[in-house]
Amino acid sequence: MKQTESHSPLPITAEQFHSKFPRQLEINSDCAVDYGCPVCGSRGPFRVEVRDFVTLSDDGGYSFPDELQETERDPRCLECGYSGPGFHIDGLDEFLAKLSE
Ligand SMILES: [Zn+2]
Repeated sequence: MKQTESHSPLPITAEQFHSKFPRQLEINSDCAVDYGCPVCGSRGPFRVEVRDFVTLSDDGGYSFPDELQETERDPRCLECGYSGPGFHIDGLDEFLAKLSE
């Protein structure tokens, strides 16, 4: 397992996420699949840093591509403000979906 600084939460498993936030049963099925805040349990929305080219035209201004490229920078939770590692939780949505079966 990857070690992180002691003041930030360690990457957690789907099971650990569920025992920490038992009431959080929201399932993400699109852009934020397997994303959850390891501090407050929010399933989003999150702020992520992106870096990409956009099209600038005289009559239309900026037009953004359908998909933006995320940088390596850690996301930020809009619910609690936490920014750091641990947002991507392997298999989280599959795990939560099985609970509601
Ligand atoms: Zn949070």
